Amino acid sequence: VEAALRQSQKMEAVGQLTGGIAHDFNNMLTGVIGALDMVKRKRASGRDADTDRYLDTALTSAHRAAGLTHRLLAFSRRQSLDPHALDINALVSSLQDLIRRTVTEQISVDVDLGAAEAAIADANQLESAILNLAINARDAMPEGGRLTISTSVAELDPDMAAEDARPGRYVVVAVTDTGVGMSAEVLDKVFDPFFTTKPIGQGTGLGLSMVYGFARQSGGSVRIQSRVGEGTSVKIYLPAADGAVEPKAEDQPADFARGE
Ligand code: ADP
Repeated sequence: VEAALRQSQKMEAVGQLTGGIAHDFNNMLTGVIGALDMVKRKRASGRDADTDRYLDTALTSAHRAAGLTHRLLAFSRRQSLDPHALDINALVSSLQDLIRRTVTEQISVDVDLGAAEAAIADANQLESAILNLAINARDAMPEGGRLTISTSVAELDPDMAAEDARPGRYVVVAVTDTGVGMSAEVLDKVFDPFFTTKPIGQGTGLGLSMVYGFARQSGGSVRIQSRVGEGTSVKIYLPAADGAVEPKAEDQPADFARGE
């Protein structure tokens, strides 16, 4: 419990700090971008190709920096959760196309929808969590491979339930890749905000900490299994709703013949 608590306090503090800095930084960038745009417009009649190129470079960088501050702001702003019983299979199905378009052509995307129960979670947050994991999987397979998204129901018995999750029934979404895998050192730090092994501009190091924060806020957790050179499986555990996933209206029999 303590480690989980420390982790969430750390994220809270980092979130506040990040939000403050990102906000101020964004205001400054707005000034820089505005001024650069102005100079560019005033020069439109002049024909100094070099200076135009420098201006474009400066503008592109400033816009990139602004993009980063927006991502940081989104991270620090705790989106309010609206958890309700969710058909996780339907949610994963609806994301399939987007995920296929997000990964490279050398990556096959498989879906295995085995969860027969609803989860209690916020749909938007769960979507962005799954997308985050899919992007990580893509980045781990630069030469291609297989990305599998599967859903299931699992029982965490008291032995398996670690410090951050109670024993009970969970709906599990697993995102598995056949990528580079993670060393023990990386695994140790993956949930730390801003921990990234990716080049500047490519990784913010916020993906997995957001996924973890979301799972914890939902009353669940995240488990990672990884092997260097073989691949990684990230599982989001979400509390199972009581009872089975409600079939869609058109699947329901019109009437129950009781044979009376
Ligand atoms: P980011 O993706 O921006 O780096 P994350 O918090 O999502 O931030 O991930 C942190 C680090 O964890 C990554 O930089 C990478 O080293 C490692 N990682 C995450 N997912 C995977 C994966 N599926 N396979 C291998 N390494 C991963």
